[in-house]
Amino acid sequence: MKISKNSKCPCGSGKKYKECCFKFHKGSNPKNALELMKSRFSAYAVGEANYIIKTTHKNSPHFEENKKEWIKSIKEFSKSEFKKLEIINFIDGEKEAFVKFRAYIDDYVMEEKSRFIKKDKWYYVEAENEN
Ligand SMILES: [Zn+2]
Repeated sequence: MKISKNSKCPCGSGKKYKECCFKFHKGSNPKNALELMKSRFSAYAVGEANYIIKTTHKNSPHFEENKKEWIKSIKEFSKSEFKKLEIINFIDGEKEAFVKFRAYIDDYVMEEKSRFIKKDKWYYVEAENEN
C-alpha cells in the first residue's frame, strides 16, 4: 500500500503518518503495548520490515532466523490494503500485556488477541488462543 508521510496514519489515529507511527519506525520506543501494536500494524502497511523484526521477541513463534526471507514476506504482505484497525481491548501490565484487535485487510477481517512482553522495551510475542 502506498503511504506517504502526509497520508493518514494506517493505525487509525486520525493523525498524519509523519506525526504518528513514523517516529516509532525511525527509532523511538512505544511507551506501551497498545502503541506497539498500532505501530506494528502501520509498519506492515508501509512495509517497514525492520521495525517488525526488531519488535518481535526472539522466542516468538513468528521470529524467523532467515531475515532475508522474513523481510521478503513482510514486503509482500505490505502490498495488501490495510483498510482499518479496530482495538477491541487492551490489558496492560508491568511485564506482559494483551491487545485484542480487528484488522481489516483487503477483503478479510483478522481478529487476534496479541501477547506482548516487556524486556528492555515492549515486544510482540504471539497470538493468544482463546479457545
Ligand atoms: Zn499511527
